[in-house]
Amino acid sequence: MRGSLLVDNIGELVTNDIGGEGGPLGIRRHAAVLVEDGQVAWVGPARDAPAADRRIDAEGGAVLPGFVDSHAHLVFAGDRAAEFAARMAGEPYTGGGIRTTVGATRAASDDELRDTVRRLRAEAMRQGSTTIEIKSGYGLTVADEARSLRIAAEFSEDTTFLGAHVVPAEYADRPDDYVGMVCGPMLAAAAPYARWIDVFCERGAFDVDHARAILACGQAVGLGVRVHANQLGPGPGVRLGVELGAASVDHCTHLTDADIDALASHRVDCMCPDGVHTTTVATLLPGAEFSTRSPYPDARRLLDAGVTVALATDCNPGSSYTSSMPFCIALAVREMRMTPAEAVWAATAGGAAALRRTDVGRLARGARADLMILDAPSHLHLAYRPGVPLIRQVLHNGVPQCRP
Ligand SMILES: [Zn+2]
Repeated sequence: MRGSLLVDNIGELVTNDIGGEGGPLGIRRHAAVLVEDGQVAWVGPARDAPAADRRIDAEGGAVLPGFVDSHAHLVFAGDRAAEFAARMAGEPYTGGGIRTTVGATRAASDDELRDTVRRLRAEAMRQGSTTIEIKSGYGLTVADEARSLRIAAEFSEDTTFLGAHVVPAEYADRPDDYVGMVCGPMLAAAAPYARWIDVFCERGAFDVDHARAILACGQAVGLGVRVHANQLGPGPGVRLGVELGAASVDHCTHLTDADIDALASHRVDCMCPDGVHTTTVATLLPGAEFSTRSPYPDARRLLDAGVTVALATDCNPGSSYTSSMPFCIALAVREMRMTPAEAVWAATAGGAAALRRTDVGRLARGARADLMILDAPSHLHLAYRPGVPLIRQVLHNGVPQCRP
């Protein structure tokens, strides 16, 4: 959108910008934000605000950076509502239901898959997610993984090749052959549309040797590494991620002291509250524990050890069919003992760190003009008023997404 836009009458501005007063969220009061050419051009006291072509009156609502949802599986067909109902009636979650979605996804047309991604992308945007990572992983053939990523790339800059989600049924007795295909023709077809490679390193999915081999092949063609690790039980996934310099290890529900030490011991300079974050971010996905009725990850143990924590939705039809970052914030605060400030930071700047991005997750000069205006005076309300649609307006690249 052309011209400048001033957002003012802000109740509380969360910048995630360090260096000033305002605590870890870099909170400013009586502030205004000037947007130009899709970027934040100026942040400062409202009384000093420059003239602008247009104005948005925040009416005393809080303004936050758009959420950065760094873990979502949006390219699929069908749903698994019946499996959810059975689980709530007492059946355990095993991850085996992924194959149900694989069958439906292979049978779907490109347009059906595209419509699902578009619908979920819009749903997430209405709930404040201006950045969302999108994984493949329900195709599991060369052609179906490539088209999943081609469609994902129409909606996100952060696309992730997850050909190693599960071993598909037709390879059940020869997993080595499947790993060979993932590293060979499937990676070659997927890589042009992917920024990242990911593996589900878990009992029943891929063991550590297969996971290491697949991730190394991805790194060799320039993809960044992420790992689904330690979700269903303890295992080597988190330490493998640290060993390979992964941007993020995701789930982290079952961690040993050695896992936490490994995460905490590698640090890089950043724009975080303490000026450093861990090379590998621990991304927590409480929607998965909620939807599988499982124990939540121990966020306090990670935070107290100095590990950088992100929150994401894990939006997928099996184990966490929510696109709502506010819901995940509420879970993180109520169930995982994160403070509201820690949870909001993890859902914005933490997600950006997990995607190794510095242009999103904060509101400062030069950042992308991705922000939300709440129908509430402070970020606290995101956890304090669970389930309430508090997001009145979202700007993405400086463009208003919805009108009240
Ligand atoms: Zn996932």
